[in-house]
Amino acid sequence: MSAPSISPAKQCPVCGKSTDEAFKPFCCKRCADVDLHRWLAGVYAVPVKEAEDEDGAPKPPSGDEKEN
Ligand SMILES: [Zn+2]
Repeated sequence: MSAPSISPAKQCPVCGKSTDEAFKPFCCKRCADVDLHRWLAGVYAVPVKEAEDEDGAPKPPSGDEKEN
C-alpha cells in the first residue's frame, strides 16, 4: 500500500495546472471563466430532438438566436 502523497494542491480541471487558492478549483480566473462558459453552454444548449422535418432541409447547429 502506498501512502498518500502530501500534495493537497489539485489540478485545474481546465488546463491541468496547479490550482490557485484564489481561483480554486481552477488555476486562474481565465480557466474559471472557461469552465463557467462550458457550464452555461451545457445549460442553455439543450439538445433538441426534432422530428423529421418535412422539408428535410438540414439546419445548422445552434448559433443564431431565433425570434418568433
Ligand atoms: Zn487552468
